[in-house]
Amino acid sequence: MTQYLVGIDIGGTKLATVVADNNGTILHKVRQPTEAGYGSDYVVSKLIKMVDQTLALVEISRSQISAIGISCGGPLDTKTGIVYSPPNLPDWDAVPLKKILTTEFQVPTVIENDANASAYAEWKFGGGQGYDEVVFMTMSTGIGAGIVSKGQIYHGASDCAGEVGHQILIPNGPLCGCGNRGCLEAICSGPAIARRAQEAIQKQPETEMLKLAGGKITAVKSEHVVAAAQNGDLLAFDLIHQTAFYMGWGIANLVNIVNPEVVLIGTIAVAAGDLLLDPIRRTVQQMAMTRPAQTVRILPAKLGDRIGDLASISLVI
Ligand SMILES: [Zn+2]
Repeated sequence: MTQYLVGIDIGGTKLATVVADNNGTILHKVRQPTEAGYGSDYVVSKLIKMVDQTLALVEISRSQISAIGISCGGPLDTKTGIVYSPPNLPDWDAVPLKKILTTEFQVPTVIENDANASAYAEWKFGGGQGYDEVVFMTMSTGIGAGIVSKGQIYHGASDCAGEVGHQILIPNGPLCGCGNRGCLEAICSGPAIARRAQEAIQKQPETEMLKLAGGKITAVKSEHVVAAAQNGDLLAFDLIHQTAFYMGWGIANLVNIVNPEVVLIGTIAVAAGDLLLDPIRRTVQQMAMTRPAQTVRILPAKLGDRIGDLASISLVI
């Protein structure tokens, strides 16, 4: 009997379940809002229904599943499968997710934090193919990283490796979601770029960013900064360069510590391309030690919107 794989992607705003064949080809997908406010029991039972619904859409029975891969915001324990309290799932407190799903579906279940699972998918299917030492960095609402070394995810002692977004670059700098100040994430995440853009526009309102945001300063987002910079808007260009400087600084630290062959950067770096990546590369060359700086390639991530689906599935292929 042909066996199939199930992938589950748990985010703060949306849930996704996918069914794939053994090669990782996605056969069907179901997406629902997380409705995290209703609590972990509600979300977990919704996930179970979504898996059944996805299977029904491709006329596959539970007995034809060989494994389930789960990508979820951390902190979590990959061995016990317990999800602690992810910032985007406020009431989750030590939820034994792996045990619940293994019992429910009677198949092996693998769980990883979403940055690690995404890094693994990029290594297996995307821009990390063919490399032994890969770092994938998220650059959207937050900044995190997954490290894949010789085909294995690097977890650290308690599954917390890769928190590159919380290296402090400006002591007493802007407040970060983690409670500290001046973290890379508080300077270069999408919301952080938007905040800096809004502050800059207050002083200098003649900018395309404002037009792109419909004339409303509070509506300016990082995507407006990227688009305006691509059209030659000087203020937006300046903001992109500041962002690239701090990203480059953070990546130089990472390059010195991890010595990767390739650093793949997601979302904002994919949208901005070389406009952001070239000054990042120059900063890394200036700031990192010579040998690891010469080794590393800094590239946009490749999987785009498919990364969430492939992240969960890649864990069980
Ligand atoms: Zn932080």
